Amino acid sequence: LNWNPSLWSETFEDLVDDGGELDYGDSWTLNFNYSQTEQVSKEERKKGWKVCTHYTIGNFRCANCRRTWPSGRVNVLFRYRLRGRRGNVIMRPFGQACRRCHDVFLLPGFSKEIMKAALRKLCSKIRKNCYNEDEGDTPRDMVKKWTKPHETDLCEACEAGICTQRDD
Ligand SMILES: [Zn+2]
Ligand SMILES: [Zn+2]
Repeated sequence: LNWNPSLWSETFEDLVDDGGELDYGDSWTLNFNYSQTEQVSKEERKKGWKVCTHYTIGNFRCANCRRTWPSGRVNVLFRYRLRGRRGNVIMRPFGQACRRCHDVFLLPGFSKEIMKAALRKLCSKIRKNCYNEDEGDTPRDMVKKWTKPHETDLCEACEAGICTQRDD
């Protein structure tokens, strides 16, 4: 399972267009920015930008030593806004470094189910914050039971100061 941005975009569009997750007749697209932060400036807020982050389950594969590992602490950050009839989502996945090689942050791969769960959660935020709908029951994080210790120095989200680890 490798990082697959086009599969994220397709899955999002499926959920919006066919899945009825954002059934308001607006067109929504998902794009990527690998350096955005959770900071929203006053200017950006005025333009309608909002952020949400959550963590989910992903898989990594070191390009150097080929080691693979799963993680229940993969942070994803979404920035989104609705303007006129157009909705934009910009996603940033946070990487992890290989414990042995330590050199670069690798991007996570995700199963289709995990992708859908993360995007459904995003859609419920959008319904609440862009369409003033009741949040209802937000899908719960699927990773509460994950107890493996988190290696802060290998985590890009920790380095960026957004890792949800701090909530525990
Ligand atoms: Zn490695
Ligand atoms: Zn972290």
